[in-house]
Amino acid sequence: MTTPSDQRPSRQVGQPFQLSFEFFPPKTDVMEERFWESVHKLAPLHPRFVSVTYGAGGSTRERTLRMVSQIHAETGIDAAAHITCVGASRAEVDQVIHAYKTAGIHRIVALRGDPPGGPGQPYVQHPDGYRSAAELVTAIRKIGDFDISVAAYPERHPQSPNWDVEIDNLKRKLDAGASRAITQMFFDNNDYFDLLDRAAKGGITAPIVPGIQPIHSFKQISSFAAKCGASIPAWLAERFDGLDDDPETHALVASAVAAEQVLELVDAGITEFHFLTLNRSNLVLALARLLGVRPS
Ligand code: FAD
Repeated sequence: MTTPSDQRPSRQVGQPFQLSFEFFPPKTDVMEERFWESVHKLAPLHPRFVSVTYGAGGSTRERTLRMVSQIHAETGIDAAAHITCVGASRAEVDQVIHAYKTAGIHRIVALRGDPPGGPGQPYVQHPDGYRSAAELVTAIRKIGDFDISVAAYPERHPQSPNWDVEIDNLKRKLDAGASRAITQMFFDNNDYFDLLDRAAKGGITAPIVPGIQPIHSFKQISSFAAKCGASIPAWLAERFDGLDDDPETHALVASAVAAEQVLELVDAGITEFHFLTLNRSNLVLALARLLGVRPS
C-alpha cells in the first residue's frame, strides 16, 4: 500500500542550511585554474566558510596561506586555514599561526597530522613539538581569537584503542577551545549517528559536522578512504563495480549516492554539512540545490 503524497512527511529543504567547502592547495598552474573555477562557482552559495588543507607534514604551508588569503580577498567569503603540528617544533607551528593572524585569517582547522608513513604508523611527537591536536588548540587560543574546528571520526581514528579514548580525546579538543568538529569521510550514515550518540553520552555539546565526500572517482576515493581508515561498504563498491570505463554512468551513480547520503542526514535533522570538494564544484552544486541552497 502506498501513502498518499499529501500524507508523506515533506523534506525540510530550503531551511537555513550551513554549508562549508574544503579545498586543497593546487600544485600546478592547471590545477590552480580548476581550483579558482570551483571556488568562483561555489562562492555564490554563500558558505559559512571554505577551508584549505595543509599538505602532509606542512608541505603546503605557503600555498595554504596564499590560497586562504586570496579566497577571502577575491570572494569576501570567510576562509579557514588547516594546520597540523606533526614533524614541527612548537616555535615553527606558532609562527604559522601568527602568519595566519597577520593575514587576517580568523578561522583555523586544527589537526595533529599523520606520521610520514601514514595514519597506520605510530605517531612520533617532534622532540620540541605539540603532542596532539588538543595541545595545538590550546596554543592557537593563546595566540588569537580564532574560530577553531577539529577532526572527528565516525569509524574511530585508526590509532585509537577504543571508543572511550576516542570520545575523551574529542572532548579534550573541544574543551580546549574548538567550536565544532568536522568528521572524516564516511559512507554509512549509521556510523555518524552512532558517533553523535557516543559524543552526547560523553558530554559533548558542540556540533559535529558531517564531512561529505562526493565520489568523483570511485577508484581514487577508495584509495583515500583506505589511507585514512574510512571503510567502503560492500553495497557501495557494488554500485560502482564495472564503471571505470563508463564515466557517464559513474557520474550519475555518484550523484545518486551522494544525494541519498545527504538527504538521509537531512531527514535525521542535520543542518550543517562540510563538503570535501577535491577542488571540483559540480557534485557539490547539485547537492546544494537538493538542499534548496541556490547561488545568489
Ligand atoms: P588527535 O585528535 O590529536 O589524535 C588522533 C588520535 O590519536 C585520537 O583519535 C586518539 O585515538 C589518539 N590520541 C590522541 N591523544 C591521545 C591521548 N592523550 N591518549 C590516547 N590516545 C590519544 N591531515 C593533514 O595533514 N592536513 C589536513 O589539512 C587535514 N585535514 C583534515 C580535516 C578533517 C576534517 C579530518 C577529519 C582530518 C584531516 N587530516 C588532515 C587528517 C588528520 O591529520 C589525521 O587524521 C591525524 O592522524 C589525526 O589528527 P587529529 O587532529 O584527529 O589528531
